[in-house]
Amino acid sequence: MLKNVIYVGQMNCNGVVYQGKHPSIINREIFDKAQLAFLKVDKSKVRKNFDFLYPGILKCGVCGYSFCGERQKKNNIYYRCSHYDRSCPNMVYLSEKELTQSFRMHLKRIGLNEDIYELIKLSLQICLGDEQTFHKEETSRINSEIEECKEILKKMYLDQLNNVLEYDLWVNLKNEYEVKLNRLSAELQKHNSANTNYLDTGLKILDLCHRASLPAIELKAEEVAQIIREVYLSAMVKNKKVKVIFREPFATIEKLIKLAKQGIAEIGLAEFKQNIISSWGSGLEHTKKEPEGSDFNSSICFKWWRLGDSNS
Ligand SMILES: [Zn+2]
Repeated sequence: MLKNVIYVGQMNCNGVVYQGKHPSIINREIFDKAQLAFLKVDKSKVRKNFDFLYPGILKCGVCGYSFCGERQKKNNIYYRCSHYDRSCPNMVYLSEKELTQSFRMHLKRIGLNEDIYELIKLSLQICLGDEQTFHKEETSRINSEIEECKEILKKMYLDQLNNVLEYDLWVNLKNEYEVKLNRLSAELQKHNSANTNYLDTGLKILDLCHRASLPAIELKAEEVAQIIREVYLSAMVKNKKVKVIFREPFATIEKLIKLAKQGIAEIGLAEFKQNIISSWGSGLEHTKKEPEGSDFNSSICFKWWRLGDSNS
């Protein structure tokens, strides 16, 4: 209420202030002082949020309220449950350093080492290769149809000029072909953006997982905070422990990494890789008919591959 100039006898119209015809009900001096006070409040709020690395990410594992940051002696930042009357029994204080440390530990769960990075790339190529081929084929088909349309339009125009084609008929045909041309262009655009979407998303995910695997000296606290914000679904604090659940597709990647590590330990990298390739080659249709618990279904490589498939 105290922000509105209407109380000092003015009017605000689309950001421009006019002198109104009504009398003011608040003294101008008081009004200006109030504006200054608002400015100060707003400034300190912004400043606070900029200073903390993990605002709004953590929740209390006991009462569900947010954990908020607090500046303490020697400029150290601590996080605690923000329960308004402090009745929550979760009295844990976590320093920002401790938080960064445990987030780093959690990021290792989706960190890709060289072998697994290659495996995921291979898996993506196998799973999405068909889709890319489809877009490529459609794009070249549409392009040749567009060329054909343009040729016909050119030829019809010349025919009309040379009086081979009646004017009215030419106008009708021309409209028809122009509508077709518009439709083809729209289709082409759709395929092009599908291609880049797939690439952008895939690369961004791989990049995040790669950064998550960097050693602590190469991963600054600010970067840990940035990655966590992009990959987390929930983060809870209970008994001084931080529990993190990842959102998709990172939750699936976490499972894939676990299975791949287990599989590589059991049969070795080369065979594991080979099994991924051949499990695709033998075809999804066949495997659907396999009875539950058969050799193929229980193969760790197959499970690894299927996990990625069902979530893509
Ligand atoms: Zn609490």
